[in-house]
Amino acid sequence: MPPINYFKPRGVPLAHLQEVHLSVEEAEAIRLKDLEALEQEECAQRMNVSRTTFSRVLSSARQKMADALLNGKAIRIEGGNFEMAVRRFRCINGHEWDVPFETMINTPPQSCPTCNTPSIMPLFPLGLGFGKGYWAGHHGGGLR
Ligand SMILES: [Zn+2]
Repeated sequence: MPPINYFKPRGVPLAHLQEVHLSVEEAEAIRLKDLEALEQEECAQRMNVSRTTFSRVLSSARQKMADALLNGKAIRIEGGNFEMAVRRFRCINGHEWDVPFETMINTPPQSCPTCNTPSIMPLFPLGLGFGKGYWAGHHGGGLR
């Protein structure tokens, strides 16, 4: 998750400031492709999406960044702090529920509150590739 989620051009009054919204996926695409300079193929694998999807996300991200830079708009990366506060879980039977971040640190959920199955996994925004293999062995506190 990007630690900084807001960029603002200097000297533009807030009332006149326009924002572009970069999704977490778009930020991640830029990070992998442009910052880490990985091949598109590898970026797509890391994000667990097809190459076509990756290149669509990437060009959308670049267009927004260019818009912000050249037109003096602020960039907000959606989902940074806000979505970190709550994590959504899903059980193997398809029930979903939210767990507040503090709760998760202290007592991570062990079973579904609806059907009590221990086969649960955290959901992340659009398959960023976290949590792979979580089904297989989360009984040792796989969240850390
Ligand atoms: Zn359930």
